[in-house]
Amino acid sequence: MISTLRFPMRSHIGLGSIEKLLPELRNWNVSKILIVTDRTLVKIGLVDQYLSHLNEKFAVNVYTEVEPEPSLNCAEKLVEYTRQGEFDCVIGLGGGSALDLAKLAAVISQNEGTVVDYLNLTGTKSLVHKGIPKILIPTTSGTGSEVTDIAVLSLKGTKDVVTHDFLLANLAIVDPQLTISVPARITAATGIDALTHAVEAYLSVNANEATDSLALKAVELISDSLKIVVENGEDIDARTAMSYGSYLAGLAFFNAGVAGVHALAYPLGSQFKLPHGESNAVLLPYVMNYITPSCSKKMNNVCNILTKQGAERTSDECLRIFYKLVEGVGLPSTLKEYGIPESKLGMLTEDAVKQTRLLARSPRTLKEEDIFQIYLQAFKGVKAGI
Ligand code: NAD
Repeated sequence: MISTLRFPMRSHIGLGSIEKLLPELRNWNVSKILIVTDRTLVKIGLVDQYLSHLNEKFAVNVYTEVEPEPSLNCAEKLVEYTRQGEFDCVIGLGGGSALDLAKLAAVISQNEGTVVDYLNLTGTKSLVHKGIPKILIPTTSGTGSEVTDIAVLSLKGTKDVVTHDFLLANLAIVDPQLTISVPARITAATGIDALTHAVEAYLSVNANEATDSLALKAVELISDSLKIVVENGEDIDARTAMSYGSYLAGLAFFNAGVAGVHALAYPLGSQFKLPHGESNAVLLPYVMNYITPSCSKKMNNVCNILTKQGAERTSDECLRIFYKLVEGVGLPSTLKEYGIPESKLGMLTEDAVKQTRLLARSPRTLKEEDIFQIYLQAFKGVKAGI
């Protein structure tokens, strides 16, 4: 069987890699740069600290109207702003929300129509023009957006994506010092997001030897360092491990795909505004429990890394390992704790089944009734016996 692998054009990773930005830009024929970021990052001084020196060499506009879990409307406004501004380079600085919007700004502004025309589930147009060059600089260790060709948007009821090779970064810069200021809860949620990418990519029906090695290394890096960064955000060695972990997890899932956890998480994000990482975290143990019979050997490999103990495990034991992991970083581990009413589980199920692109990669088929049962288990939790 042939495996086809895709990667971003160029990445600088590691402590101090942000210093590569100016020398890189000097080699590009650009003069007017759009920075896409969010208000918090301006407020805490991160944008000034790392990007203000660009003002000396280039004309720079900073766009801050980035919402967490951005809506379609938020993306449409930015694309229109980019068209009017005639920029020749876009820099996305932030979490997945800012990076995804930066991709859309760079590409859709140079194509006909609006963002809605290019959505995966309902869009009718294909992208024709590559767009202007984009540099993606993550400030969370989570989404891996800096290496994927995907931009995720929140719609009414669920999420949808724009996905195309043109959305890949021309350059990714992954510097752990930019993640030091991430608060503990966001560190925990984004960290579990990265872990979910690695685990789902490893268990995906599209996995191959190359994506497996990326995914397993990511699981190891993240499981060794996640609790440390949640407890002490200034531990730069652990932050560095998380940067590498989320980068590798991003490469793994970009090539092998994510599956059931993400399909069920999308409606939680759009219907109840749960942050993406928290939606994944609360569902991870229950989806893992359900699919384990179809991938028990691989699941054991993951659990061996997470627990640092080799053993044969039942799906119930796997469930408890993931459950403890989520609880251990201080995140709620039931839908009830998030205030989601049991009566809404049917509505969540209706939207999750629409995510056929994601569900197709699950090692165990997830039908409507299965999805409802997973939501129900996630609602009730598994406290007993732990
Ligand atoms: P986010 O970008 O929404 O950021 C969450 C919060 O963290 C924001 O308030 C932000 O201001 C703050 N923050 C970010 N960096 C910080 C820093 N260094 N210091 C202090 N605060 C900081 O969260 P996210 O989880 O990174 O991204 C979520 C989005 O990414 C969702 O829309 C999700 O669907 C999408 N996503 C995209 C991909 C992809 O491949 N494109 C993959 C997974 C998720």
